[in-house]
Amino acid sequence: MSLDRMERRQFLKSSSIGMLAAGCAWPGRAAAQTGKAQEIKLPTRPLGRTGVKIPILSFGVMNTDSPDLIKRALEAGIIHLDTAHGYLRGNSETAIGRVVKERGDRDKLIIATKVWLARDHQTGGFSTQASGRGPAATAENLNQMLNLSLTRLQTDYVDILYLHSCDTAQMVNYEPLMNAAVAARKAGKVRFIGVSCHGRVPEVVRAAADAKIYDVAEIAFNLQREDKEDTEKAIAYAKEKGLGIVAMKTQGGKRRDEKVPMNHKASLKWVLRHEEVTTAIPGMTTFDQLELNLAAAADLDLDEEEKNYIKLGSLQIGAMCQSCRACVPTCPQHVDIPTLMRAAMYAGSYGNLSHAEWTLSMLPEQYGLQVCGLCETCIAACPHQLNIGGKVAELKKTFRLPLA
Ligand code: SF4
Ligand code: SF4
Repeated sequence: MSLDRMERRQFLKSSSIGMLAAGCAWPGRAAAQTGKAQEIKLPTRPLGRTGVKIPILSFGVMNTDSPDLIKRALEAGIIHLDTAHGYLRGNSETAIGRVVKERGDRDKLIIATKVWLARDHQTGGFSTQASGRGPAATAENLNQMLNLSLTRLQTDYVDILYLHSCDTAQMVNYEPLMNAAVAARKAGKVRFIGVSCHGRVPEVVRAAADAKIYDVAEIAFNLQREDKEDTEKAIAYAKEKGLGIVAMKTQGGKRRDEKVPMNHKASLKWVLRHEEVTTAIPGMTTFDQLELNLAAAADLDLDEEEKNYIKLGSLQIGAMCQSCRACVPTCPQHVDIPTLMRAAMYAGSYGNLSHAEWTLSMLPEQYGLQVCGLCETCIAACPHQLNIGGKVAELKKTFRLPLA
């Protein structure tokens, strides 16, 4: 049943970021009158070779710590909750842990978390002890994070443990972390191992499918990504190899043509109409979004408006960072621009200032936003026409750093 307006207001107030999320570019209440959450039957698909089947809609618990929203999603038939060690500085995992404990049905749910290990901002790969450039990505760090995540989630195991943001084949094949993840699986703390990635998606998917230890890849996949055709080929390869595919950023991006508003249902359906995708994990923050996504997943047929939107989307690629790193050599300071662009997306498009701040805090100062303060004008260039300077300025304003 839909909540009345007063309950919605109370929810938005009670969620730590609900007020921010309310300002996101999602359709309003009227547009979400598409069905009652409890009555929708979600189709399921196999998660690669794992033997597990999951409804095609899951919940990316990234931008909310609202127990009510998590409960409602589970009541509606969602069984897979995706979080990460760093989301909302641990509050996402804590909220999931409380809800699942209260429901008492841990064994019926699929809980995934991610561990973010230190990287070398010169190479774009994991940081090694040998490089001497900051802390290294080690098995010890992975275990510490995993143990803390299990405590917050109030569980002995996670169903999927991802190595967070592996954006190159080299990161996928980084043996110290692969071995640590396998050891955690042997110890019963993890059922399945995966990688998540935002950039070089086709390369990462193929590498994960070939690496043997991985069961799942969680990938940025949407209508507006420039690598979508290559990604389609890569996920077909993944399917052959038994690698499950979880799609994130499904409704990501911002249209270059601002006159055409984002059609969230069409965007989600476009992703889910790829049968190689096991499930999608939209980062919902309101009951309206949940209802809209449930309705989209329950019926993947496209109406005329959705068909037209997708046709247009295919012709007009949105201004969205592809995490390709082509801009990094054009910045005189070698700032980690893809990470800044991701933080700008979390702050601007998702309204999740907490995650934007956490993302920025993961960058050593010499590769972070602070260094941008030295430039009068941003001269970094993006071959995908992203306005890097504009987004850097927005970040500096949001996080109150001095503008040059
Ligand atoms: S800003 Fe442009 S060049 Fe840089 S990573 Fe993003 S898409 Fe690639
Ligand atoms: S403002 Fe632009 S050019 Fe200057 S450091 Fe930041 S990203 Fe690099």
